[in-house]
Amino acid sequence: MTTLRILEPVPRVTPLTDPVVLPRGSVEPSAPARHRAALPPRHLADLDLAGRRALGVSLGEPAMRASQLSHHYFGRLVRDPAAMTDIPLAARERLVDGMMPQLLTAVRELECDGGATRKSVWRLHDGSLVESVLMAYSDRVTACVSSQAGCGMACPFCATGQAGLTRNLSTAEIVDQVVWLAGVAVRGLGPEVPARLSHVVFMGMGEPLANYARVVEAVRRLIAPPPEGLEARTMALAEQIASHAPITIQVTKEAIRRILESRRVAAQDDLVVKAYMSKDFAEGVRAFLEKRKPVWTGQ
Ligand code: SF4
Repeated sequence: MTTLRILEPVPRVTPLTDPVVLPRGSVEPSAPARHRAALPPRHLADLDLAGRRALGVSLGEPAMRASQLSHHYFGRLVRDPAAMTDIPLAARERLVDGMMPQLLTAVRELECDGGATRKSVWRLHDGSLVESVLMAYSDRVTACVSSQAGCGMACPFCATGQAGLTRNLSTAEIVDQVVWLAGVAVRGLGPEVPARLSHVVFMGMGEPLANYARVVEAVRRLIAPPPEGLEARTMALAEQIASHAPITIQVTKEAIRRILESRRVAAQDDLVVKAYMSKDFAEGVRAFLEKRKPVWTGQ
């Protein structure tokens, strides 16, 4: 059974306010587009601990407050200033406003498999919408997060790809999806399910390798111990890449290289056909259906 919970009316799952939709195949916004597709306000998850301490000092607070705030966010999954009782009352609102601006607003939640799979649609500060999914199993809880708003890869079978790229997500926008979902996992997903997020995959909206620097920074936050990061037992990007078929990695890199060079390619050299008609792709599908590890051959 599928349960749909609408938190706010959303007429469509596309950017709501004057989106900057770039041509298919775009990776980096052009100069005017970059100006319009502004990143969100800075969040502590954009910074390493040293950067957060410096930001805390610039807000007129001792550096240790940044560590305390980071511990609440990453260690306790707490965002409410009222629950940060180790920080003086007068400083809490200022610190939270200056270092933990709200990045994601939940606008829609979809549940299926008796609540074991939960999809969230988030509105970003510029009105763009992105999705995350939480998947609960008896041996693991997996967060699937977006790395871009939209996607410029234009895979013909994918609705996200048909709308084009709106913008890359910031490091904190990626991390915040995981922190939200970690909070859901800790509150409990069922008697048979571990109450802790154990895996993170970047298989939501966007191509993570096209937003490489921020995705890698996000992974650093996720695997670092609190207060530096979430210390998630993540199946992080490196592991994800390692688990992909060699042929898929090869064509992904080649696709990005071609996009960056805006090189025209011959029809018989189509990367999508090369990847999805490969023996490795067929092996990956077979292994998934048979619930075993794939055996890659690079063909
Ligand atoms: S890379 Fe992923 S999100 Fe982007 S168009 Fe292809 S399938 Fe869709």
